[in-house]
Amino acid sequence: MTFMKRVTEGAKSLGEGAKTIGGRAGDLVESTKLKFEMSKLEKEVENNISALGNLVFLKFKGAEGHEEEIKRLLDTTKILEEEVAKFTEQIEKLNPKPPVCPKCNAEYLPAAKFCMHCGEKLEQENPPAE
Ligand SMILES: [Zn+2]
Repeated sequence: MTFMKRVTEGAKSLGEGAKTIGGRAGDLVESTKLKFEMSKLEKEVENNISALGNLVFLKFKGAEGHEEEIKRLLDTTKILEEEVAKFTEQIEKLNPKPPVCPKCNAEYLPAAKFCMHCGEKLEQENPPAE
């Protein structure tokens, strides 16, 4: 698959997911970008860990000379994980968790007056601007 094709498809599926979350358009674009960047990092972490697994297994079987590669992979993976954590934090800031019903803990839309699940009357702390 070409890089551009992957970019387009990734953006498309993220966009569809984001639509259900809702929110301001600017934040939506930003969080879609962040999620895309983060998914690339997570993929790298995954690849690193699988490469590490192979090297450790080779070592276990008695192969020599993989120490440097293992060390390098451990270091990069640690940095990548820190990056992923930063992205997660930024994405959470852009997509605050939806409020939950105090009675039944079901999530509700900020604009809802009553809980869809149990009918509890809901507080509207942050009435939407639109
Ligand atoms: Zn409820």
